[in-house]
Amino acid sequence: MRVGKDSIVSLDYRLHLGDGQVIDQSAPGQPLAYLHGHRQIVPGLEGALEGMNKGESKQVVVQPGQGYGEHDPEGVRTVPRSMLPPGFTPQAGQTLMAQTDQGDISLRIREVRGDDIVIDLNHPLAGKTLHFDVTVQDVRAASSEELSHGHVHGPGGHDHG
Ligand code: ZN
Repeated sequence: MRVGKDSIVSLDYRLHLGDGQVIDQSAPGQPLAYLHGHRQIVPGLEGALEGMNKGESKQVVVQPGQGYGEHDPEGVRTVPRSMLPPGFTPQAGQTLMAQTDQGDISLRIREVRGDDIVIDLNHPLAGKTLHFDVTVQDVRAASSEELSHGHVHGPGGHDHG
């Protein structure tokens, strides 16, 4: 069968940002398994996989709007260093988890400027053009249980133990 709505896709993938330097990939023999048509992966990649067959490979270029979104300048803020836990030494490039009323968010430290730090609330891949090398390792129909749960069961998916 081909990749389509409600199929379970097992995918080998590599991601780079155009320079060939791989920033994320599936582990050998451990493809990513996801439920197609339910926005579990970025829309640009999901659309490109539609109709592919088991064993097929493809290179997919995803623009930011179809990936993790454009980089929002409003998400870059300068905050006093005293907001951080005492004893913590901030460094550019670090990612922190912060608790807010809206739940946990991750933020990156862009810069440390004396008593201030510049943080970025955007997704780390916001504004980036994504280059995927993908191979469809398997395609199967989702079971009714998987559909009602909205996720994959078995290898690469959920294990309810
Ligand atoms: Zn489940």
